[in-house]
Parts: sequence; C-alpha cells; structure tokens
Amino acid sequence: MNRDRYPQLEVDPGKLKENLTALRERCQDSFVGIIGVVKGVNAWEPVVRVYDEMGFPYLASSRVDQLRKMRDYGVKTPLMLIRVPMRSELGDVVSIADASLQSDLGTLRAVDAEAARQGRTHGVLLMIDLGDLREGFWSAEELIDAAVEVENDLTHLRLLGVGVNLSCYGSIRPDKRNMQGLASLAFDVERAIGRPIDLVSGGASTSTYMVLNGTMPGRINNLRLGEIGLVGRANYGCDPDFTHRDVFTLRAEVVECRDKPSFPVGQLTVDAFGHEGHYVDRGIRRRALLAVGKVDYGDWADLKPRMAGVEILGASSDHTIVDVEAVKDQIKVGDVLEFDVNYGSLVNLTNTPGVFLVSK
Ligand SMILES: *Cc1c(COP(=O)(O)O)cnc(C)c1O
Repeated sequence: MNRDRYPQLEVDPGKLKENLTALRERCQDSFVGIIGVVKGVNAWEPVVRVYDEMGFPYLASSRVDQLRKMRDYGVKTPLMLIRVPMRSELGDVVSIADASLQSDLGTLRAVDAEAARQGRTHGVLLMIDLGDLREGFWSAEELIDAAVEVENDLTHLRLLGVGVNLSCYGSIRPDKRNMQGLASLAFDVERAIGRPIDLVSGGASTSTYMVLNGTMPGRINNLRLGEIGLVGRANYGCDPDFTHRDVFTLRAEVVECRDKPSFPVGQLTVDAFGHEGHYVDRGIRRRALLAVGKVDYGDWADLKPRMAGVEILGASSDHTIVDVEAVKDQIKVGDVLEFDVNYGSLVNLTNTPGVFLVSK
C-alpha cells in the first residue's frame, strides 16, 4: 500500500469539496459560473471526481493527455482545453474535448475542418489579450472578425463567448479597467453576431477577489478556477477566510538526524545546481535530512513545515535539509514530517513518478 510509502502527497477530498462548494456559492451570488481547472494536480483522479460532482459547466486542463485521463475516469462534465491547441493535436482536441480556448483564425478554420471530418461540433472561447501578453487576440477588431466567421461560416464550431487571461506572464492584476474592457468586447461581439453569447470569462483564481469584494462588473459571468479551490488562496491578496489551505499534505521521511555545524566546512564554491549558496553560521545545530527534493516539488520555498520549530534550510535534487534544533527531542530517523504545499509545488508533486499519491 502507498499509505506508508514516502514521499507521499495526500489529498483530503472532503476539504476540497468544502472549498469548491463555498466558492461556487459566492460566485453564484454574483451570477458567475465556474470552470473547474485540474491541471494543477495533473488531473489526479480523486480530485477530478470531486470536481465532477460540483455541476460546473466544464472541467478544464491545459493538456489533452489530462483530458483523455478524465474521459477514461468516466467524467460526466463537459471538458474544455484551456491551452490554445497545437495544430498537430487537433484530431485529439476534437475527439476528446468538447470545447477549447482559441486565439488564431487559421487554427479555428483547421478545428472546424477536423470537427467536420469527425462529425462533431466543438465549442470555442475566443481569447483577448488585455495586457498580460500570453495568449489572445491583441486587436479587438480581429477577434470580432473571427467571431463573425465562426458564427456564420465555420459550421462545426459553436462560439461560446470571450475570455481573458491575466496575471500569468505579464503579472497584470485583474481590475475594473480590464474587466470593463472584456465586458465591452462581449457587447461588441454580440452586436456583430446578432445573438447573446454564453460565456464572458474573466480569468482565473486571481480574478476571484473581485467577485468576493463585489467589484466584478455584472457582464462577467464566468471564471476558470484552479489554484483557489485546490490550495484555498491566490495571489493579489485573495486570502479568503472560508477556504481550507490544507487540502493537500506532503509527507517526507527523515533519513538522517544529527548535530552538524550550520556553516559549510571547506572551500565555498557553488551548489549542485551551480548556484552560490548563502549560509548563516549559527553554530552546531540538530539537522534532519529528508528523502524528498527539488525533483519532487521544485522550489523548497513552496513548502511550509506543519510542525512549529522546523525550518527548511535548503535542498538538492533528492534531499531536503531542515533545522530541527528547536524540536530536537521530538525527531529521529524514520519519522515523517508534514508540509503544506502551495500551487507551484502541487504542480510538480503530481507530475513526478517518485511521489506516492494517496486519498484520505
Ligand atoms: C491555468 C489556467 C487557469 C486556471 O488558473 P488558476 O490560477 O489555477 O486558477 C485558467 N485559465 C487558463 C487559460 C489557464 O491556463
């Protein structure tokens, strides 16, 4: 059984469900629907099952292989690909996903042709770039022209609406100005195609704070949420008091525990990754060595020890070094330490074969 194998990542589906239910309720109060995004956990089955029970209009991932896994689990919710697709994967996109994000007219035409070939209809959400400089049409006119072509000529596509992505590459904060920009684009698209659109999708977890503080413009009726449901918070001060931060627990086993100097001994050069280290001499202290490392979670700054008095000093590929001087009577070889994880480490931990995944 994986239950006593480490490093181990455990999910608490009950807490996840409470997070998603609380978010759904608050979004509903503002007439905002949720697309549940599961790429942060590599579409891990127990997590996907909780999302599938929420009655969201779509479940989404940025990768087709994760959507395929979800199909294989028997997910009932329609599936959306939220990375603009590669031309080379359109066969799978059309057969596996019900809808996708789009930002290129040539790709839209190719998706239409593929959907015609497969005898399917594929939903598309046209993305506008409002300054973050990742995906999206840069010109509103170009997006509106594409919307008109989808509506009138690309008969195997269904125009679902418009969306924006923020705070990913350009670290642009969602605010009234860019949300109003999206709202007015939605009106322009509706005027151009002569009917209302279903989705006006105002971004990801970092947009949630505007729903919670009542500043989201009324026309925005959808968010695509991953991080805030999974780890209970998001950047830009979105720290709700109604979410669990400990849906996930990382457990790692102590393989060595002894007193050592806190300052390396010998000629200082660079660490295993070619970086210069910074060390503080605090004299001889008790240190524990954990059998988990950067290969598993990425950056150790994305972990937080649950036990007070445990402090992470650093890590290499397969080891993490913690100072346990303050709790030295409580820790020995073979013990297991627990950590909170944030979104960055969650992505890594669920995408590496060396971590045992268990559901509570
Ligand atoms: C990842 C992603 C999301 C979800 O982001 P979170 O920060 O996890 O809420 C939404 N939309 C797009 C296009 C994404 O790539």
